Amino acid sequence: MTSQKILVINSGSSSIKYRLFDVHTNGRKNNSRYILLSKGLIEKIGQKDSGVENHKQGIAMLLDSLVHGSKSVLKDHNEICAIGHRVVHGGVTFKKPTIITDEVISKIRECFELAPLHNPANFSGIEACKELLPGVKQVAVFDTAFHQSLPEHAYIYGLPYEYYEKYNLRKFGFHGTSHQYVAHEAARLLKKPLSKLKVITCHLGNGCSIAAVKYGKSIDTSMGFTPLEGLVMGTRCGDIDPASVIFLADKEKISLAEIDRVLNYKSGLKGISGISNDMREIKKAANKGNRRAKLALDIFVYRIKKYIGSYIAAMGGVDGIVFTAGIGENEKDIRAKVVKGLFGFLDPAKIKVLVVATNEELMIARQTFQLVR
Ligand code: ADP
Repeated sequence: MTSQKILVINSGSSSIKYRLFDVHTNGRKNNSRYILLSKGLIEKIGQKDSGVENHKQGIAMLLDSLVHGSKSVLKDHNEICAIGHRVVHGGVTFKKPTIITDEVISKIRECFELAPLHNPANFSGIEACKELLPGVKQVAVFDTAFHQSLPEHAYIYGLPYEYYEKYNLRKFGFHGTSHQYVAHEAARLLKKPLSKLKVITCHLGNGCSIAAVKYGKSIDTSMGFTPLEGLVMGTRCGDIDPASVIFLADKEKISLAEIDRVLNYKSGLKGISGISNDMREIKKAANKGNRRAKLALDIFVYRIKKYIGSYIAAMGGVDGIVFTAGIGENEKDIRAKVVKGLFGFLDPAKIKVLVVATNEELMIARQTFQLVR
């Protein structure tokens, strides 16, 4: 039995989430145990009076706390075997987790324009670790990678093909690490290999997306070129007629940047209800009879149902429907409303509805360890 430590870093624009795992192996592949040793969050990076000026300082603090903190879990940093980083966008270049080299770094930089809010922040974490722990192997795990198996007919939009050729304007899909993790967990719970199952995974958090996972591969997913497409989310609109944007720009006399803010931050549950992006608040208001809160709920559920129906058609059937993330894991009524009706035409004995707590950090640790072991 050997044991190795894997650090997982999720570096956002103003925060760093981390987890340290101890991986116990007995030599056999796929037979490792991941024990969580430490987890934490560094917030308000770059903000006045926070005491954390930048990502490098934040990571230096967390590394220090792992050795010298009140709950010290390492004797020294040499014990860290590898670091797995969450990177939001891997474009068309990264189809799987990848060991970070100078060449990989420059390719991740090329993906900045695809995720201008996320990738630079993820990258700051990589750069900081490279400087602070120069000898330690680093791995990038991309949110988009799991969906790189989508067939062309699912990822090409009905736009002039030249825009795809010139700019890679196509569906990418996100939350890939979560969809992959819960699909694997579903197979484990169903006691069947994932390669023999058709699974629909519903990640319903603040951001929401659904994936059709056929025989272990994502064949379609609701988010698109950006995370805006698909389901109605906390503050994002999901699918709308693209011509609405042109109409709005004209009527409201607002810039494209302002419309972008409307679609991403003022829409979804928040925009429809006029109350909140938080499902718990929406439910409270709906229970008190608030019409728009009830409407927001109905739209939220209806959209999920439509996607599930379309993915059953796309896969030619389904063995399991998996719910995960804040709403998926905790909101029993929403799950019930979504699946109600499906069983009128599908055999309930053949379709399992599962709730699986997502664990993207564990998935990143696993993928990192598998690459560096
Ligand atoms: P994020 O996408 O920010 O990670 P989460 O997965 O935490 O989001 O999901 C947040 C959503 O989950 C909110 O709409 C919240 O209302 C809903 N939710 C419902 N019940 C719970 C609960 N018991 N704990 C946390 N979130 C919950």
